[in-house]
Amino acid sequence: MISVYDIDGLARWASAHGVDEPTLKRFRVAFFKKALAEDDCLAMLPPSVRAAFQAAVALPSLDLVARQDSSRDGATKLSLRTADGHRVEAVILRVASGRTSLCISSQVGCAANCQFCATAKLGLARNLTTDEILAQVSLAQRLLRAEARTLRNIVFMGMGEPLHNEKNLYAALDTLRNPRAFYFADRHLMVSTVGMVAAMGRFRERFPTVNLALSLHSARQEVRRDLMPAAKSQTLEKLRAVFPPQGSPSPLMIEYVLLQGVNDGPDDLTALIDYLRGAEVHINLIPFNPHPGAAFTPVGKAEREAFAHALRRAGYKVTLRRSLGDDIAAACGQLAGVHARSGN
Ligand code: SAH
Repeated sequence: MISVYDIDGLARWASAHGVDEPTLKRFRVAFFKKALAEDDCLAMLPPSVRAAFQAAVALPSLDLVARQDSSRDGATKLSLRTADGHRVEAVILRVASGRTSLCISSQVGCAANCQFCATAKLGLARNLTTDEILAQVSLAQRLLRAEARTLRNIVFMGMGEPLHNEKNLYAALDTLRNPRAFYFADRHLMVSTVGMVAAMGRFRERFPTVNLALSLHSARQEVRRDLMPAAKSQTLEKLRAVFPPQGSPSPLMIEYVLLQGVNDGPDDLTALIDYLRGAEVHINLIPFNPHPGAAFTPVGKAEREAFAHALRRAGYKVTLRRSLGDDIAAACGQLAGVHARSGN
């Protein structure tokens, strides 16, 4: 079967079956842009080829098993089931009117084992396929269409380490960016990584203007190594070598989760200021989202603001993020509500 996300394959099928480009385009617009229901997309094709199309072209999907809407803000957590019974999660973030973002997963579980992250507790079951990554987007688009909203941003900040699943990630990005498919602008796409140095280089080469975020969390090697096992081999020194130099058109986003007594002290601040000097970065300070079993304490609002202020004084661009969806465990690092391969 051809996947609907395989745009070239779709075009080959169409020309072999006498479907002209304007007709195929009407189908693609219905599926990718208007996010119409399956039958309504199919209705864009001539009746004579519909059965053959259905036999040849798969519209991959994930089962929506549960949906939790935050009572406090505009977040919705979607619990999704793969065909082989694994569970993954995606989160819709309605930040401001019209500006809707979707946080998607790249793996079932994760192998990175970051000490503060809930997904880490699951371990890694498997990579998501390209179809499974993109099916999260199609599904969210359809839910949002019912609210007359459009999806603006896609961030790979759900379950999994995207750069541990490079091949499928890159194929998914190709389709997300493709003018004949989803056609998201590069500035509306973001991939977040624990910091796989070689893969970050490949990513930048292939997608120079897609946003890349590095989960730094400490600029002190021994602290970072204790928080994130990946840092043992992917050292701060090696990472620093792949940072964009000041003045580069695409800044590296730096994610920094503030953990009380771990990475929020004066030495941590100084180390961070020194480490990032001369690089084109934008720092996101993230509040720690507590979850059962997490042995860390969030840093208070006033202290987070002081940390941000000091970084700004040192000349850095800083965003102090607030946490969306924490009442439904949909915030960063809280995606572990269900176990991989649960039956229901
Ligand atoms: N594996 C990728 C993407 C998934 S996590 C990565 O690590 O970047 C997305 C972001 O949430 C990362 O910056 C991660 O470090 C952060 N995060 C994980 N657990 C968190 C928690 N409990 N509170 C706040 N942020 C957390």
